[in-house]
Amino acid sequence: MGVLFKDKPLHTNSPRSSKLYWGLCFGILGNILMAFSIQINASTIADLRHLAIVIAASFGGMIPALLSAVLIAAGRILLFGINESSILGSIGALLTGILCGGISNINLSRTIKAFIMNLIGLFFVSIIFIIRIEDLQILKNVLTMHYFISFIGGFLAYHFFVFVVNSYEAQNQLKHTLMKIKETEERFRLIAEYSSDMITMHNEYAEYKYISPAVKEIIHYEYPELLDKNMFIFIHPDDIEQTNEMFEKALEEGAANSTYRYRTKMGDYVWIESALKSVHFEEEGSKKVIIVSRNITDRKLTEHKLQEANELLNRLSYMDGLTGIANRRYFDETLVKDCLNSSSTHSPITLIMFDIDYFKKYNDTYGHLTGDACLQSIAQAINNQITTIKSNFTFCRYGGEEFALISPSTGIEEGMKIAKQIQDTIRLLAIPHISSDIADIITLSIGVATNVPSRSIMPQELIQMADEALYVSKTKGRNTISSAQLSLEGL
Ligand code: GH3
Ligand code: MG
Ligand code: MG
Repeated sequence: MGVLFKDKPLHTNSPRSSKLYWGLCFGILGNILMAFSIQINASTIADLRHLAIVIAASFGGMIPALLSAVLIAAGRILLFGINESSILGSIGALLTGILCGGISNINLSRTIKAFIMNLIGLFFVSIIFIIRIEDLQILKNVLTMHYFISFIGGFLAYHFFVFVVNSYEAQNQLKHTLMKIKETEERFRLIAEYSSDMITMHNEYAEYKYISPAVKEIIHYEYPELLDKNMFIFIHPDDIEQTNEMFEKALEEGAANSTYRYRTKMGDYVWIESALKSVHFEEEGSKKVIIVSRNITDRKLTEHKLQEANELLNRLSYMDGLTGIANRRYFDETLVKDCLNSSSTHSPITLIMFDIDYFKKYNDTYGHLTGDACLQSIAQAINNQITTIKSNFTFCRYGGEEFALISPSTGIEEGMKIAKQIQDTIRLLAIPHISSDIADIITLSIGVATNVPSRSIMPQELIQMADEALYVSKTKGRNTISSAQLSLEGL
């Protein structure tokens, strides 16, 4: 019966069809038991048929109990003919079925209920025996024997049935669980295998234990080429240390991230971004690291280009577009820094400002474009000249045809010397300027301003001093160098 109905287990809440199947079976079982009855007298037989009803009731409740009882009652009359004993036996079976079915609804443990049901079955059998067996000695013997066998038989039958039911239930549950595991496994396999990210699993020594198919697309290795290999042999030497640290971190703390270069089968390196996670496998007593990686080479390339563009932008924002030397913005920022530095180190700082003489006339005479070229030549010539004499300076276009040179750690004498060299450089350049009132070549008016080492100086102060000195040069008739030094008396 267990085998036949392994997919239709008998419970009090099984579907009615299952209960009917089982009721039918228990009825047949009762009839088989009757076929092995012990003949007591001409019409009285003793057997364990009531146990079929007891078990049907204790497992399936009223429906199988009644159905089996009806079948047994019918069998008792059909198999052994109509007589008083068979009628009594049938009535006994039916009453046993009804009562056992009723007891099955009581809130007691199933074993206790089965024991009570067995007693009820025996009670009806006893009544029939008392009615039908006249010989008291035989009645006594039959009842003793019947009770003895019924208890042992009932106990064995009940527990055997419990075992059958439980084992099939366990089997069903196992099947169900296995199916669920298979489904889950299948789902995760699909996710891993269809993912465009590489999913790999490593043991504690970073050896490949699982590799998803995306690996082939990203790093071009076949499964066996990586299996059991240490992942670090493929990583760029410069990135091994930090990736190893991340691997250890994942093992210890559970998770880590790493970005590194990975050597593909073609020998080139691709940038890989990985999320590492460690998993503890209890049955194996070991930890595994699952790594989800993606190729970020394109992103890295874009980042690099962006960085270069930013650097260029930064450089350009400090550069004068026409002359290629530093612009006013750079001048302002540098002068603040240099003045602060000069104050903290008590060193002098010199600012040289110069302006092209009669440049408006130059433009008017030669055109604006030639004017631009003139500015470029002057800026280049002076820049080259200063580079040869000083390493630490800032030369910039202050605005229009005015230029400025910041020279830290430079006293007034050295400043005047540099100004003279600038003047000479331009004179040697000899850019024709026929409409100049002072010469027939381009000339400069220069103002030199220096602080004294012991005095802190504000940038604006220095600019004003240089500007005033330049103005003096202009008023003196141009092509001249004038100086201004912060006088100690002024302190
Ligand atoms: P001064 O000797 O008093 O300095 O006379 P100046 O003519 O040089 O001075 P002014 O300030 O009157 O004129 C400066 C001229 O510089 C006017 C302007 O057209 C010219 N200039 C300023 N920036 C540029 C430039 O980028 N390119 C060209 N070609 N000319 C410029
Ligand atoms: Mg000017
Ligand atoms: Mg000028």
